[in-house]
Amino acid sequence: MSETNNNKIDRIVSLCKRRGFVFPGSEIYGGLSNSWDYGPLGVELKNNIKKLWWQIFVTSRDDMVGMDGAIIMNPKVWEASGHVATFNDLLVECLSCHQRFDRGKLENGKCSNCGKTKFTEPRQFNTLFKTYIGTVEDAKSTAYLRPETAQAIFVNFKNILDTARMTLPFGIAQQGKAFRNEITPGNFIFRTREFEQMEIEYFIPRPEKDVDWQRQFEYWINQVHLWLKAIGVDAKKVDDFEVPDSERAHYSKRTIDFMYEFPFGTKELYGLAYRTDFDLKNHEQFSEKNLKYKDAATGEEFWPHVIEPSFGVDRTMLAVLCEAYSDDGDRVILKLKPYLAPYQAAVFPLLANKPQLVEKARAVYQKLKLPITNCQLPMNVAWDERGNIGKRYYAQDEIGTPWCVTIDFQTLEDDTVTVRDRDSAKQERVALKDVPAFIMERMMPR
Ligand code: ATP
Repeated sequence: MSETNNNKIDRIVSLCKRRGFVFPGSEIYGGLSNSWDYGPLGVELKNNIKKLWWQIFVTSRDDMVGMDGAIIMNPKVWEASGHVATFNDLLVECLSCHQRFDRGKLENGKCSNCGKTKFTEPRQFNTLFKTYIGTVEDAKSTAYLRPETAQAIFVNFKNILDTARMTLPFGIAQQGKAFRNEITPGNFIFRTREFEQMEIEYFIPRPEKDVDWQRQFEYWINQVHLWLKAIGVDAKKVDDFEVPDSERAHYSKRTIDFMYEFPFGTKELYGLAYRTDFDLKNHEQFSEKNLKYKDAATGEEFWPHVIEPSFGVDRTMLAVLCEAYSDDGDRVILKLKPYLAPYQAAVFPLLANKPQLVEKARAVYQKLKLPITNCQLPMNVAWDERGNIGKRYYAQDEIGTPWCVTIDFQTLEDDTVTVRDRDSAKQERVALKDVPAFIMERMMPR
């Protein structure tokens, strides 16, 4: 990894802490390694990513519905899905300090804790997060925090089919937390034990020929790329890695890992898998409930096949930050897509000690901020009256606010304001009544 790239991630981590995007978890208690909390700006950015994803993949489509399942499910779910038996990492234990490591990730064959080089033979370690339901901790009360959101979709397949009356092909989407007892978490929010996923199970008719599912699979590869474009990720930094047979999950007939050039190396951002009819078939067998789809025309019953695009929210946010971060040594700008930025606009009175300016600016701020007065604009707006105007611009650039609206003495005379653009630093005089439209026009995905 180059020094510059190394610095880049350090600078992003430091910006995230300084400006309230991401804080080290449980910090006042000395932290909890590799856990992170999202602060006031981080939660806005993360929510905007999730909202956009939901709009693109659920609400704007006729063939998709959403759901939100429980994190703790009946443990049988994880037996049927194969997680209890196979959600394993191969670990070795240092004979000297007893720290455990993923064998593939040992640095130069040395223990990163004590530097010794002798280890046990590799052993299986299940990465499911175990917990207990109720007051007694025994095998009967064992439960798991879900390691992926996908299974709740399969478990609710029949409920959704009966209530939403979908016909094939159709998809069910879900966003939510997932938990994995990762052996080697790290690289900031890239790999954590608690994270969020956005997953789609796209159900297709039983393929008669390979070409049927391959066509759907190619369609979803393309959808993932369109999404990456919408969030501002440079296509040149993404590689579609065709996972070879030997490395694919047992249920998958084809998997693509979308690898992104993070500053700390090229690593998986998202996954796309053709899961065949493995999940519905297994849940039917374990639950003894009919999970087949009935073709309305022929009356035939069968398990649909499934294509699964799986997106990590935290990895998305990290990739978005890496793409947006720009630092010329003098000035930091987060060139976020306007619809992802924590604030779409900031409003300033030119001088904080002139009550007429502050009063007018406050009114503009309230008007832009309240959805009721500008119904079509889902805008979040910042207010700042500290320091001089240059410093305020700088502070907004750093958090990615695309437009700064300044109220000055001319505003009091003719109801016009200056609107300053984050990326070009250009200022334009705009009539106050046109500001929402000015922003809306420029905010639309291009
Ligand atoms: P990796 O190989 O990096 O461990 P995976 O192949 O196990 O990832 P999947 O099971 O395919 O990951 O999960 C789907 C998506 O969920 C990943 O592409 C990633 O975006 C996200 N994800 C998985 N594990 C983590 C984690 N520990 N921290 C943050 N995001 C994660």
